[in-house]
Formats: sequence, structure tokens, C-alpha cells
Amino acid sequence: MGLLSAKLLAAADEGVLLLDRQGVGRESSWAGGGIVSPLYPWRYSAAVTALAHWSQDFYPGFARQLLEDTGIDPEVNATGLYWLDLDDEAEALAWAAREGRPLFPVDIAEAYRQVPVLGGGFERAIHMPGVANVRNPRLVKALRAALAAMPNVELREHCPVKGFVQEAGRICGVTTADGEIRAERVVLAAGAWSGELLKTLGLELPVEPVKGQMILYKCAEDFLPSMVLARGRYAIPRRDGHILIGSTLEYAGFDKTPTDNALESLKASAEELLPALKDAEVVGHWAGLRPGSPEGIPFIGELPAYPGLWLNCGHFRNGLVLAPASCRLLADLLLGHEPIIDPAPYAPAGRLH
Ligand SMILES: Cc1cc2nc3c(=O)[nH]c(=O)nc-3n(C[C@H](O)[C@H](O)[C@H](O)COP(=O)(O)OP(=O)(O)OC[C@H]3O[C@@H](n4cnc5c(N)ncnc54)[C@H](O)[C@@H]3O)c2cc1C
Repeated sequence: MGLLSAKLLAAADEGVLLLDRQGVGRESSWAGGGIVSPLYPWRYSAAVTALAHWSQDFYPGFARQLLEDTGIDPEVNATGLYWLDLDDEAEALAWAAREGRPLFPVDIAEAYRQVPVLGGGFERAIHMPGVANVRNPRLVKALRAALAAMPNVELREHCPVKGFVQEAGRICGVTTADGEIRAERVVLAAGAWSGELLKTLGLELPVEPVKGQMILYKCAEDFLPSMVLARGRYAIPRRDGHILIGSTLEYAGFDKTPTDNALESLKASAEELLPALKDAEVVGHWAGLRPGSPEGIPFIGELPAYPGLWLNCGHFRNGLVLAPASCRLLADLLLGHEPIIDPAPYAPAGRLH
């Protein structure tokens, strides 16, 4: 959120200083799977759907532009996605019809024809053609490179923010390990840590860390032609044959240590979805902290009691797909432009204690 918000604001000729307590793009936005759709989009509110739809249409062009500008390809991979043996298939199809999204029931035999490596025993499938995944570590790398090339952006890494500078009823900067930094406006986009920073103002932001672990395999490039998802676990193919299996959902504070239990559980899911992975080696295992929020609805906008302080945080399980619309909405509001979508559901007013 920080990287893309900075890019959009800088593109509108604002001077931007981006602070991160470590190197940018190392936390949840690096750790996530990168599915460019909520996992079960029909289970979310209209607020999440509105951001997701705007962003999904934006992603392919956005990635092409980043590649052109930086030489780093975020690898948007439009493989489509099969959901298997869903309990709420009827709700899913009703949602798709209502929203005009391509999501269709398919004969299970057809799913097995399209994804021959799929494990046995599945009985039902629905298919969303064209839905993509983005190689998010490359995406954050490309965004960092794009920012580094902008003359009106300064990236200051390894600079932890400790609190806010308040003067005459306005927020007019931040305090850091290196001292005070003044700014006309401050945007808080600290993911799962955003609530910790707002506590310094005595505010309770309902954003909490939700740990997610993933594992990684490396297969032949054409091993898995589509994303597949069953019982909350999914497999995501990257273009070069890397397969990500995710994810756990754990309320464990700010601890990011990968665990043996999760490794075993993710391996079991991987082998159920794609039995050929029994013979493959796990080449990566990590955890990230999602910025969990009520119903996964992010906080985007200015804090009315603290003019000058803007939020773009709390994207929970969907921050990669929601980023383009969220950051554009933040920039529209901050710059006084007509917002791309109705900002009311994301307004911080009334949602903090
Ligand atoms: C396992 C897993 C799978 C996921 N899969 C998907 C998916 O398939 N699709 C999808 O859309 N989303 C997915 N997500 C969710 C997505 O990754 C997040 O919603 C999104 O990355 C949040 O972005 P963010 O910028 O708010 O937070 P982050 O990427 O966590 O960035 C927060 C930044 O703030 C910095 N920071 C924190 N505190 C301070 C401080 N005091 N001072 C300075 N800097 C600070 C951090 O260093 C970090 O760089 C997944 C997440 C996980 C963990």
C-alpha cells in the first residue's frame, strides 16, 4: 500500500518521502500468494467487491507498464481458477450472475481434463476463467525500482516510525529513530503494524496481525495449468513452474516463525490437491502477517479528529488484489479528485475507538 500510494501521489507531482523500518516490500506484500481475486469473492461485502473488480481490470496494464518502466516483470499469470467441492456453490453462482463475473459450473470430468495432475475424489467444480496471480515479490521489487527513478520521491529505508507530530490540532509529521520529520500530510500504510502506531495517539484501530504460512515447490513449467482451491487450501502456478501452496490462518500475535505443524499440514493439502507433489521437494516455507480487519474492509481516508493523518491499511487476506483501487482511492481523496468509487465504506470515521 505504501509503495503504490507513493507512486500515484508522486505521479500527481506531490513530493513524497516513503519511510520503512526495514527494506520496503519485505512483509505481507512479499509473503502473500498473489491471487488477483479474493479467495471466495462471493463471501465478501459489496465494499470489498467494488475494490476487487476495479483492481482486477487494472492489473494487466499496470504490470505491463511496470515492466516497461523498470525492466522487472511482475508476471501476471492469467491461469483461471477451479474451486472444488464447495459447500456454497449456489451462492457463488448467484453472486457471479448478479455481479456479471465469469464463474461457471463445469463437469468434474472437464476439470480433470483441464488439470490432469489434480488429485482423485473431487466431485464438483466451478471455474473462473482468466483470473490471474501476480508474482508479488517481483511486483514490490518493480514498484521500488519505479519509485527510485522518480525525482520527487525519496525512499528512506531502515527508518522506523515511532509516532506522530501534532501541532494546532493537525498531524504534521512523524517521529523516527533519526528524529522528527515534518510533512503536510502523513499516510499510514504499515500493514499489520498500523494499529500499534495509532496507539501512540490513544486510538484503537481494529487491525491485528493474522499469520499465514505458505510452502513452495518447483516443477516443470507446464505442470499445473490453472490455480486450484479446495477446503480453504490452494495451489498457485507461477510462469516458471514454481507452485505455491497456501495458507494457514493463525492468530499468533506478531510472531512470524514458520512451524513444523504448518509444514506438515500444508504438505498434506498439497498432496491431496496434486498427488505428484509427494515426490517433489519443498523448496521454500515462510510466514507473513496479514493486516486483519473486521470483514476485511480496509481503512482508506483521513482521520477526521486528526486532520493531516490518512490511512490506507487493514486489507487482510486481499491486499494484493485490492491495492490498485485502494491506493487510487486514497490518492483521489487526498488530492481532492473525484473518487473512482464511493469512499464511504472505507472511511475511518466511526470505525476506530
Ligand atoms: C500467506 C499469505 C497469503 C496471501 N495471499 C494473498 C493473495 O493471494 N491475494 C491477495 O490479494 N492478498 C494476499 N495476502 C494478503 C496481502 O499480502 C496483504 O493484504 C497485503 O500485502 C498488505 O499490504 P500492506 O502494504 O498493507 O502491508 P505490508 O506489505 O505488510 O507492508 C507494511 C510495511 O510497513 C512497514 N512498517 C511497519 N511498521 C513500521 C514502522 N513503525 N515504521 C516504518 N515502517 C513500518 C513494514 O516494514 C512493511 O514494509 C496474503 C497474505 C499472506 C500472509
